[in-house]
Amino acid sequence: MHELSIAQSIVELAEQQAMAHKASQVEELELEIGALAGIEISALEFALESSIKETMLEKARIVRRDIPGEGRCGDCEAVFPVNSLFSACPACGSYAVNIIKGRELRVKSIVIK
Ligand SMILES: [Zn+2]
Repeated sequence: MHELSIAQSIVELAEQQAMAHKASQVEELELEIGALAGIEISALEFALESSIKETMLEKARIVRRDIPGEGRCGDCEAVFPVNSLFSACPACGSYAVNIIKGRELRVKSIVIK
């Protein structure tokens, strides 16, 4: 399962950060997940729940920020919201659309103690 390996790498990354700062526990983890990142949120949440067991993240509050998709037309430069990777420009109908937002999947911040 794709989401499980993502969850495990998130936990690993957070633990590395916590250890680098000589913390014993992660209190909060903030994730940014783009609408176009190809992540199934419910699957990721489920995977995270099982991945944090017996780690420094066991009691952490997980805050999720959803980033909506945004594209810029390569032909007319219009910027508009996109819901899929293959969207046409609403202004001119061009498919030369560059996704400028919504593909991110990252740990934005962690709070440790
Ligand atoms: Zn356009």
